Amino acid sequence: MDRRDNSFYSDRKWCPACDMYVPYLMSLATSYCVECGNEVRLLSSSDWQAFTEKMEARKTRGGRRRKRSSKSSTPPRRESA
Ligand SMILES: [Zn+2]
Repeated sequence: MDRRDNSFYSDRKWCPACDMYVPYLMSLATSYCVECGNEVRLLSSSDWQAFTEKMEARKTRGGRRRKRSSKSSTPPRRESA
């Protein structure tokens, strides 16, 4: 049995009803569990929380880097925004 975590998560989604990651059927907007037919999510609530926490941590770190003092010494980059 080989562990392929990345592909595992890529072709499975979290079914709250089955309480596990399951193969799913893709619909236009939603995906459905092939086991029970319920709506599935990309991540379980605990995994989702861990994911958002990771994103928040990254956001905070990135925001801290912006210092006005260093900005004046560095010329602004050309960004089409
Ligand atoms: Zn299910």
